[in-house]
Amino acid sequence: MSRILARRCPQGLLRQAFSAPRTNVTTTPSSVRAFASATSNAPSFNWEDPLNSKSLFTEDEIAIGETAERYCQEQLLPRVLQAYRDEHYDPKILEEMGDLGLLGATIEGYGCAGVSSVASGLITRAVERVDSGYRSGMSVQSSLVMGPINDFGTAEQKERFLPGMAKGKIIGAFGLTEPNHGSDPGSMETVARPHPTKKDVYLLSGAKTWITNSPIADVLVVWAKLQETGKIRGFLVERSACPPGTLETPQIKNKTGLRASITGMIQLDNCPVPKENMFPEVEGLKGPFTCLNSARYGIAFGMMGALEDCLSRARTYALERKQFKGNPLAKYQLVQKKLAEAITDVAYGTLAAIQVGRLKDEGKATPEMISMIKRQNCDRTLYHARTLQEIFGGNAVSDEYHIGRVVANLYVTQTYEGQSDIHSLILGRAITGVQAFV
Ligand SMILES: Cc1cc2nc3c(=O)[nH]c(=O)nc-3n(C[C@H](O)[C@H](O)[C@H](O)COP(=O)(O)OP(=O)(O)OC[C@H]3O[C@@H](n4cnc5c(N)ncnc54)[C@H](O)[C@@H]3O)c2cc1C
Repeated sequence: MSRILARRCPQGLLRQAFSAPRTNVTTTPSSVRAFASATSNAPSFNWEDPLNSKSLFTEDEIAIGETAERYCQEQLLPRVLQAYRDEHYDPKILEEMGDLGLLGATIEGYGCAGVSSVASGLITRAVERVDSGYRSGMSVQSSLVMGPINDFGTAEQKERFLPGMAKGKIIGAFGLTEPNHGSDPGSMETVARPHPTKKDVYLLSGAKTWITNSPIADVLVVWAKLQETGKIRGFLVERSACPPGTLETPQIKNKTGLRASITGMIQLDNCPVPKENMFPEVEGLKGPFTCLNSARYGIAFGMMGALEDCLSRARTYALERKQFKGNPLAKYQLVQKKLAEAITDVAYGTLAAIQVGRLKDEGKATPEMISMIKRQNCDRTLYHARTLQEIFGGNAVSDEYHIGRVVANLYVTQTYEGQSDIHSLILGRAITGVQAFV
């Protein structure tokens, strides 16, 4: 485990982070309390961790989660509202995350922490508790750029990129989606042709769109079809090495979600990339899909942070806001039902993410398992966030209540890295043996 992560783990951090928005209102009637705890030693229900998922974490994982929670609550939360309003992403955030050992956290060596998949999930949960855009910037760096370099890169590529990326000093982007091919990346049009005069150089041409971090990236993983074979290959395009006019990465502005992250295009016009910057072995969709699996796992765990945040804020609001005879909203059954349904999906979704993380580290996780938890946790979180938003009434429209921002972000998390219906088709194919995509 990273010495950085290990050093910075004050106990009780998670508790502190959660305790801030709570109120002192006592709402449990004595008859219910008596039913809940028949004896003084009976376990009590903790609404913040309903099925005691914490008991499944190692001490290291708890410490890592607490470190990440403290950073996110103390350093990210105070700046998210302004960043979202201004549609601004501060690249220094990646350096701060790098200082804490949060980037490429599951990778061994190269200055990375080498933690378990569950620990990396706790990191994404902490970041997503603040904003999905911040988690997206981190996931792209960690899972979609450092991940394939570590899995498929040459020893030289790893040495060249991973240490700087782990510190957040080299920023990465992942270019798979194209204007005409999103859910169907196998039909991509971006092509890599051999340079007509220079040996071992390819010329990349094509366009990628909706690419997180692209306007600020130093290295862009671009998936393109090799003209010679028609097979998809991965290239590490270094911005500093591209001649003028061969690489453009314009920002896509005025987004309605994920505004605290930066998104753009990648436009390649005969951009020369040396063969030594191509991943040497991996061919076809296996390359992009392998790293997407890790990123999708992070999203599935991250969703639980977003939903816990909505739940905590809605609970606080419901306890404080009074309507009809001075009753808090929390006293009304319809409001309690919304909270009960959301808390159930937090508990189930967290346990599923832990289980898949353990299987992943044992080499027993399948892509279908990851499709299942990515789809379910994204869908349920979006559904509950929209429902919990109702508890805030008109105030939900003010960004200072945060929930409107979270709901807008969650549309994107349900859409990228395989839209939910596409994950249904992956599961449907696994159940029936029949492919429904085409
Ligand atoms: C803010 C943001 C950041 C992003 N970051 C990245 C990034 O860093 N890198 C990257 O490569 N991409 C990124 N994406 C792109 C994202 O992965 C795609 O938007 C996503 O894969 C969907 O592709 P699409 O938008 O082309 O939708 P389409 O493929 O056009 O799909 C539109 C709708 O049709 C449905 N559909 C499509 N095919 C079928 C079918 N066969 N059967 C049933 N329904 C179908 C889909 O489920 C969806 O609901 C990002 C997107 C956003 C919005």
